Amino acid sequence: MNTPVTHPGEPILQVNDLKKHFAITGGLFGTIKGFVFAVDGVSFTIHRGETLSLVGESGCGKSTVGKAILRLFTVTDGQVVLNGQRIDQLSAGALRPLRKNIQVVFQDPFSSLNPRMRVREILAEPITNFGLASGREEIDARLAVLMDKVGLPRDAINRWPHEFSGGQRQRIGIARALAAEPDLIICDEAVSALDVSVKAQIVNLLCDLQQELGLALLFISHDLAIVEHMTHRIAVMYLGKIVEKGTRDQIFRAPMHPYTKALLSAVPVPDPDAKRDRILLTGDVPSPINPPKGCRFNTRCPYAFDRCRVEEPELRQMAHHHVAACHLHDRPNAENPLLAGMLNDV
Ligand code: SF4
Repeated sequence: MNTPVTHPGEPILQVNDLKKHFAITGGLFGTIKGFVFAVDGVSFTIHRGETLSLVGESGCGKSTVGKAILRLFTVTDGQVVLNGQRIDQLSAGALRPLRKNIQVVFQDPFSSLNPRMRVREILAEPITNFGLASGREEIDARLAVLMDKVGLPRDAINRWPHEFSGGQRQRIGIARALAAEPDLIICDEAVSALDVSVKAQIVNLLCDLQQELGLALLFISHDLAIVEHMTHRIAVMYLGKIVEKGTRDQIFRAPMHPYTKALLSAVPVPDPDAKRDRILLTGDVPSPINPPKGCRFNTRCPYAFDRCRVEEPELRQMAHHHVAACHLHDRPNAENPLLAGMLNDV
Protein backbone atom coordinates (compact mmCIF):
# COMPACT_ATOMS: atom_id res chain seq x y z
CA MET A 1 0.00 0.00 0.00
CA ASN A 2 1.28 3.45 -0.88
CA THR A 3 1.94 5.90 1.93
CA PRO A 4 1.18 9.62 1.56
CA VAL A 5 3.76 11.60 -0.35
CA THR A 6 5.35 14.26 1.85
CA HIS A 7 8.26 15.18 -0.39
CA PRO A 8 7.14 14.51 -3.95
CA GLY A 9 9.65 14.39 -6.77
CA GLU A 10 9.63 16.81 -9.66
CA PRO A 11 6.40 17.34 -11.63
CA ILE A 12 6.09 14.82 -14.46
CA LEU A 13 2.67 15.85 -15.77
CA GLN A 14 0.83 19.14 -15.43
CA VAL A 15 -2.70 19.49 -16.78
CA ASN A 16 -3.89 23.09 -16.82
CA ASP A 17 -7.55 24.05 -17.39
CA LEU A 18 -7.99 21.21 -19.89
CA LYS A 19 -11.17 21.26 -22.00
CA LYS A 20 -12.50 18.80 -24.52
CA HIS A 21 -15.80 19.66 -26.17
CA PHE A 22 -16.95 17.21 -28.84
CA ALA A 23 -19.03 18.80 -31.61
CA ILE A 24 -22.38 17.17 -32.40
CA THR A 25 -22.98 17.42 -36.12
CA GLY A 26 -25.97 16.52 -38.21
CA GLY A 27 -27.75 17.18 -41.50
CA LEU A 28 -26.44 16.92 -45.01
CA PHE A 29 -23.65 19.44 -44.50
CA GLY A 30 -22.51 18.29 -41.08
CA THR A 31 -23.79 21.43 -39.36
CA ILE A 32 -22.70 21.75 -35.71
CA LYS A 33 -25.83 21.31 -33.58
CA GLY A 34 -24.23 21.46 -30.16
CA PHE A 35 -21.36 20.21 -28.03
CA VAL A 36 -20.69 17.44 -25.54
CA PHE A 37 -18.84 19.18 -22.70
CA ALA A 38 -16.91 16.04 -21.80
CA VAL A 39 -14.04 17.79 -19.98
CA ASP A 40 -14.57 21.38 -18.94
CA GLY A 41 -11.60 22.92 -17.18
CA VAL A 42 -9.60 20.23 -15.37
CA SER A 43 -6.25 20.94 -13.67
CA PHE A 44 -3.85 18.71 -11.72
CA THR A 45 -0.18 17.83 -11.37
CA ILE A 46 1.47 14.43 -10.89
CA HIS A 47 5.00 14.17 -9.50
CA ARG A 48 7.61 11.46 -9.94
CA GLY A 49 6.84 8.47 -7.75
CA GLU A 50 3.30 9.63 -7.10
CA THR A 51 -0.13 8.16 -7.87
CA LEU A 52 -3.04 10.49 -8.57
CA SER A 53 -6.41 8.77 -8.89
CA LEU A 54 -9.09 10.35 -11.03
CA VAL A 55 -12.43 9.01 -9.79
CA GLY A 56 -16.10 9.45 -10.59
CA GLU A 57 -19.07 7.66 -12.07
CA SER A 58 -19.06 6.42 -15.62
CA GLY A 59 -19.63 9.35 -18.00
CA CYS A 60 -17.96 11.97 -15.77
CA GLY A 61 -15.16 12.56 -18.30
CA LYS A 62 -12.26 10.88 -16.49
CA SER A 63 -11.32 8.56 -19.38
CA THR A 64 -11.55 11.50 -21.79
CA VAL A 65 -8.93 13.27 -19.66
CA GLY A 66 -6.64 10.22 -20.07
CA LYS A 67 -7.18 10.12 -23.83
CA ALA A 68 -6.54 13.87 -24.11
CA ILE A 69 -3.21 13.48 -22.29
CA LEU A 70 -2.32 10.63 -24.66
CA ARG A 71 -3.25 12.97 -27.53
CA LEU A 72 -5.69 10.48 -28.99
CA PHE A 73 -7.51 13.63 -30.14
CA THR A 74 -6.80 17.35 -30.12
CA VAL A 75 -7.88 19.24 -27.02
CA THR A 76 -10.32 22.16 -27.19
CA ASP A 77 -8.40 24.34 -24.75
CA GLY A 78 -5.89 24.20 -21.90
CA GLN A 79 -2.40 22.76 -21.60
CA VAL A 80 -0.79 19.35 -21.14
CA VAL A 81 2.81 19.72 -19.96
CA LEU A 82 5.07 16.66 -19.80
CA ASN A 83 8.47 17.00 -18.12
CA GLY A 84 8.23 20.77 -18.52
CA GLN A 85 7.32 20.69 -22.23
CA ARG A 86 3.87 21.49 -23.64
CA ILE A 87 2.67 18.55 -25.73
CA ASP A 88 -0.94 19.53 -26.44
CA GLN A 89 -0.02 21.49 -29.56
CA LEU A 90 2.86 19.42 -30.93
CA SER A 91 2.61 17.94 -34.42
CA ALA A 92 2.39 14.17 -34.72
CA GLY A 93 6.05 14.06 -35.79
CA ALA A 94 7.28 16.16 -32.89
CA LEU A 95 5.19 14.13 -30.46
CA ARG A 96 6.43 10.70 -31.63
CA PRO A 97 9.73 10.56 -29.67
CA LEU A 98 7.97 11.87 -26.53
CA ARG A 99 5.33 9.13 -26.61
CA LYS A 100 7.70 6.73 -24.92
CA ASN A 101 7.39 8.83 -21.76
CA ILE A 102 3.63 8.24 -21.43
CA GLN A 103 2.31 4.71 -21.64
CA VAL A 104 -1.13 3.31 -20.94
CA VAL A 105 -2.68 0.17 -19.49
CA PHE A 106 -6.29 -0.29 -20.62
CA GLN A 107 -9.22 -1.96 -18.91
CA ASP A 108 -9.71 -4.92 -21.19
CA PRO A 109 -6.63 -7.13 -21.41
CA PHE A 110 -8.40 -9.20 -24.10
CA SER A 111 -8.80 -6.47 -26.70
CA SER A 112 -5.71 -4.44 -25.84
CA LEU A 113 -3.27 -7.22 -26.84
CA ASN A 114 -2.93 -8.15 -30.50
CA PRO A 115 -4.08 -11.81 -30.68
CA ARG A 116 -1.82 -12.42 -33.70
CA MET A 117 1.37 -11.46 -31.86
CA ARG A 118 3.27 -13.62 -29.39
CA VAL A 119 4.24 -12.01 -26.07
CA ARG A 120 7.81 -11.68 -27.38
CA GLU A 121 6.64 -9.50 -30.30
CA ILE A 122 4.23 -7.50 -28.13
CA LEU A 123 6.98 -6.56 -25.68
CA ALA A 124 9.75 -6.12 -28.26
CA GLU A 125 7.72 -3.67 -30.33
CA PRO A 126 8.11 -0.61 -28.04
CA ILE A 127 11.77 -1.50 -27.39
CA THR A 128 12.62 -1.42 -31.09
CA ASN A 129 10.21 1.42 -31.99
CA PHE A 130 11.85 3.73 -29.47
CA GLY A 131 15.38 2.49 -30.22
CA LEU A 132 15.99 1.28 -26.66
CA ALA A 133 17.91 -1.81 -27.72
CA SER A 134 19.04 -3.51 -30.91
CA GLY A 135 20.14 -6.98 -31.80
CA ARG A 136 18.46 -10.19 -30.66
CA GLU A 137 20.68 -10.71 -27.62
CA GLU A 138 20.15 -7.24 -26.17
CA ILE A 139 16.40 -7.34 -26.78
CA ASP A 140 16.09 -10.84 -25.27
CA ALA A 141 17.88 -9.65 -22.13
CA ARG A 142 15.39 -6.79 -21.78
CA LEU A 143 12.44 -9.12 -22.35
CA ALA A 144 13.66 -11.45 -19.60
CA VAL A 145 13.92 -8.55 -17.15
CA LEU A 146 10.41 -7.38 -18.07
CA MET A 147 8.92 -10.85 -17.54
CA ASP A 148 10.63 -11.02 -14.11
CA LYS A 149 9.38 -7.57 -13.15
CA VAL A 150 5.73 -8.41 -13.79
CA GLY A 151 5.96 -11.88 -12.26
CA LEU A 152 5.52 -13.98 -15.40
CA PRO A 153 7.70 -17.03 -16.18
CA ARG A 154 10.37 -16.27 -18.76
CA ASP A 155 9.44 -19.30 -20.85
CA ALA A 156 5.95 -17.84 -21.39
CA ILE A 157 7.49 -15.29 -23.77
CA ASN A 158 6.69 -17.44 -26.83
CA ARG A 159 3.04 -17.96 -25.95
CA TRP A 160 -0.01 -16.22 -27.46
CA PRO A 161 -2.25 -13.82 -25.47
CA HIS A 162 -5.18 -16.27 -25.49
CA GLU A 163 -3.09 -18.77 -23.53
CA PHE A 164 -3.10 -16.50 -20.44
CA SER A 165 -5.69 -15.71 -17.76
CA GLY A 166 -7.15 -12.19 -17.47
CA GLY A 167 -4.74 -11.25 -14.66
CA GLN A 168 -1.74 -12.61 -16.57
CA ARG A 169 -2.80 -10.68 -19.66
CA GLN A 170 -2.93 -7.51 -17.59
CA ARG A 171 0.62 -8.28 -16.43
CA ILE A 172 1.63 -8.46 -20.11
CA GLY A 173 -0.10 -5.09 -20.64
CA ILE A 174 1.93 -3.63 -17.76
CA ALA A 175 5.15 -5.18 -19.13
CA ARG A 176 4.41 -3.62 -22.52
CA ALA A 177 3.96 -0.23 -20.87
CA LEU A 178 7.21 -0.66 -18.90
CA ALA A 179 9.12 -1.75 -22.03
CA ALA A 180 9.17 1.88 -23.23
CA GLU A 181 10.77 3.02 -19.94
CA PRO A 182 8.10 5.69 -19.38
CA ASP A 183 7.94 8.40 -16.72
CA LEU A 184 4.14 8.19 -16.52
CA ILE A 185 1.69 5.31 -16.90
CA ILE A 186 -2.02 6.00 -17.32
CA CYS A 187 -4.04 3.10 -15.91
CA ASP A 188 -7.52 3.48 -17.38
CA GLU A 189 -9.83 1.23 -15.30
CA ALA A 190 -6.87 -1.17 -15.48
CA VAL A 191 -8.17 -3.59 -12.85
CA SER A 192 -11.95 -3.13 -13.24
CA ALA A 193 -12.45 -6.24 -15.35
CA LEU A 194 -10.51 -8.54 -13.01
CA ASP A 195 -11.64 -10.78 -10.15
CA VAL A 196 -11.28 -9.31 -6.66
CA SER A 197 -8.19 -11.34 -5.65
CA VAL A 198 -6.49 -10.71 -9.01
CA LYS A 199 -7.28 -6.99 -8.70
CA ALA A 200 -5.32 -6.84 -5.46
CA GLN A 201 -2.35 -8.64 -7.04
CA ILE A 202 -2.20 -6.24 -9.99
CA VAL A 203 -2.57 -3.19 -7.71
CA ASN A 204 0.28 -4.49 -5.51
CA LEU A 205 2.40 -5.06 -8.60
CA LEU A 206 1.80 -1.47 -9.77
CA CYS A 207 2.73 -0.13 -6.31
CA ASP A 208 5.93 -2.23 -6.21
CA LEU A 209 6.94 -1.13 -9.70
CA GLN A 210 6.23 2.48 -8.83
CA GLN A 211 8.50 2.32 -5.82
CA GLU A 212 11.24 0.51 -7.73
CA LEU A 213 11.16 2.71 -10.83
CA GLY A 214 9.86 6.05 -9.49
CA LEU A 215 6.94 5.98 -11.93
CA ALA A 216 4.18 8.57 -11.88
CA LEU A 217 0.76 6.90 -12.17
CA LEU A 218 -2.55 8.40 -13.27
CA PHE A 219 -5.04 5.84 -12.01
CA ILE A 220 -8.47 6.33 -13.61
CA SER A 221 -11.14 4.38 -11.76
CA HIS A 222 -14.75 4.36 -10.61
CA ASP A 223 -13.79 2.03 -7.75
CA LEU A 224 -12.91 3.95 -4.58
CA ALA A 225 -12.34 0.73 -2.65
CA ILE A 226 -9.37 -0.09 -4.91
CA VAL A 227 -8.12 3.49 -4.98
CA GLU A 228 -7.95 3.65 -1.18
CA HIS A 229 -5.20 1.05 -1.09
CA MET A 230 -2.88 2.43 -3.70
CA THR A 231 -3.16 6.17 -4.20
CA HIS A 232 -1.39 9.20 -2.77
CA ARG A 233 -3.86 11.82 -3.96
CA ILE A 234 -7.39 11.77 -5.39
CA ALA A 235 -9.26 14.08 -7.77
CA VAL A 236 -13.03 13.57 -7.86
CA MET A 237 -14.73 14.38 -11.18
CA TYR A 238 -18.39 15.12 -11.85
CA LEU A 239 -19.76 16.04 -15.28
CA GLY A 240 -16.45 17.17 -16.76
CA LYS A 241 -15.13 19.08 -13.74
CA ILE A 242 -13.03 18.32 -10.67
CA VAL A 243 -15.24 18.95 -7.64
CA GLU A 244 -12.75 17.91 -4.95
CA LYS A 245 -9.05 17.12 -4.77
CA GLY A 246 -6.94 16.07 -1.80
CA THR A 247 -4.66 13.48 -0.27
CA ARG A 248 -6.00 9.99 0.27
CA ASP A 249 -6.59 10.63 3.97
CA GLN A 250 -8.31 13.97 3.36
CA ILE A 251 -10.72 12.47 0.85
CA PHE A 252 -11.48 9.31 2.84
CA ARG A 253 -11.53 10.82 6.34
CA ALA A 254 -12.82 14.33 5.77
CA PRO A 255 -14.58 14.65 2.39
CA MET A 256 -15.71 18.23 1.72
CA HIS A 257 -18.08 17.73 -1.21
CA PRO A 258 -21.49 16.00 -1.11
CA TYR A 259 -20.64 14.05 -4.29
CA THR A 260 -17.45 12.65 -2.73
CA LYS A 261 -19.45 11.68 0.35
CA ALA A 262 -21.99 9.94 -1.86
CA LEU A 263 -19.26 7.97 -3.67
CA LEU A 264 -17.76 6.98 -0.32
CA SER A 265 -21.18 5.83 0.89
CA ALA A 266 -21.04 3.10 -1.73
CA VAL A 267 -17.68 1.77 -0.52
CA PRO A 268 -18.10 -1.27 1.74
CA VAL A 269 -16.88 -0.65 5.30
CA PRO A 270 -14.98 -3.60 6.84
CA ASP A 271 -16.48 -2.90 10.30
CA PRO A 272 -20.30 -3.35 10.09
CA ASP A 273 -20.76 -1.28 13.28
CA ALA A 274 -18.70 1.63 11.95
CA LYS A 275 -20.77 4.77 11.57
CA ARG A 276 -20.61 6.56 8.26
CA ASP A 277 -22.59 9.58 7.19
CA ARG A 278 -24.40 8.20 4.17
CA ILE A 279 -25.55 10.06 1.07
CA LEU A 280 -27.23 7.75 -1.40
CA LEU A 281 -26.99 8.89 -4.99
CA THR A 282 -30.23 8.79 -6.93
CA GLY A 283 -30.73 9.19 -10.67
CA ASP A 284 -28.14 9.17 -13.41
CA VAL A 285 -25.41 11.65 -14.23
CA PRO A 286 -27.12 14.40 -16.31
CA SER A 287 -26.17 14.74 -19.97
CA PRO A 288 -22.87 16.55 -20.62
CA ILE A 289 -24.58 18.07 -23.70
CA ASN A 290 -26.71 20.26 -21.48
CA PRO A 291 -25.19 20.29 -17.99
CA PRO A 292 -27.31 21.80 -15.18
CA LYS A 293 -26.90 25.54 -14.55
CA GLY A 294 -25.10 26.61 -11.38
CA CYS A 295 -23.54 23.68 -9.54
CA ARG A 296 -23.61 20.71 -11.91
CA PHE A 297 -24.41 18.40 -9.01
CA ASN A 298 -27.51 20.37 -7.91
CA THR A 299 -30.03 17.98 -9.54
CA ARG A 300 -28.81 15.12 -7.33
CA CYS A 301 -27.50 16.89 -4.26
CA PRO A 302 -29.54 16.43 -1.05
CA TYR A 303 -28.25 19.77 0.28
CA ALA A 304 -28.93 21.93 -2.82
CA PHE A 305 -30.37 25.37 -2.11
CA ASP A 306 -31.36 28.31 -4.33
CA ARG A 307 -27.86 29.64 -4.90
CA CYS A 308 -26.70 26.23 -6.17
CA ARG A 309 -29.12 26.46 -9.10
CA VAL A 310 -27.76 29.77 -10.41
CA GLU A 311 -24.13 30.13 -9.37
CA GLU A 312 -21.36 27.68 -10.14
CA PRO A 313 -19.10 27.08 -7.11
CA GLU A 314 -15.35 27.58 -7.56
CA LEU A 315 -12.76 25.21 -6.16
CA ARG A 316 -11.65 26.69 -2.84
CA GLN A 317 -8.88 25.80 -0.43
CA MET A 318 -10.11 23.72 2.51
CA ALA A 319 -6.69 22.70 3.86
CA HIS A 320 -3.15 22.28 2.55
CA HIS A 321 -3.47 20.06 -0.60
CA HIS A 322 -7.29 19.98 -0.19
CA VAL A 323 -9.76 21.87 -2.43
CA ALA A 324 -13.52 21.48 -2.92
CA ALA A 325 -16.22 23.29 -4.92
CA CYS A 326 -19.39 23.66 -2.82
CA HIS A 327 -21.39 26.70 -1.63
CA LEU A 328 -22.05 25.03 1.73
CA HIS A 329 -18.58 26.12 2.84
CA ASP A 330 -19.73 29.77 2.78
CA ARG A 331 -22.06 28.97 5.68
CA PRO A 332 -21.06 29.03 9.34
CA ASN A 333 -19.59 25.65 10.33
CA ALA A 334 -22.54 24.81 12.57
CA GLU A 335 -24.90 25.15 9.58
CA ASN A 336 -22.76 23.13 7.20
CA PRO A 337 -24.07 19.53 7.02
CA LEU A 338 -20.77 18.37 5.53
CA LEU A 339 -19.04 19.23 8.80
CA ALA A 340 -21.78 17.90 11.08
CA GLY A 341 -20.21 14.49 11.74
CA MET A 342 -16.78 16.00 12.23
CA LEU A 343 -18.03 18.67 14.65
CA ASN A 344 -19.87 16.01 16.69
CA ASP A 345 -16.64 14.00 16.89
CA VAL A 346 -14.71 16.90 18.46
FE1 SF4 B 1 -24.78 20.53 -3.37
FE2 SF4 B 1 -24.99 23.17 -3.65
FE3 SF4 B 1 -22.72 22.10 -2.78
FE4 SF4 B 1 -23.46 21.80 -5.31
S1 SF4 B 1 -22.93 23.71 -4.30
S2 SF4 B 1 -22.64 20.25 -4.01
S3 SF4 B 1 -25.66 21.61 -5.09
S4 SF4 B 1 -24.71 22.06 -1.74
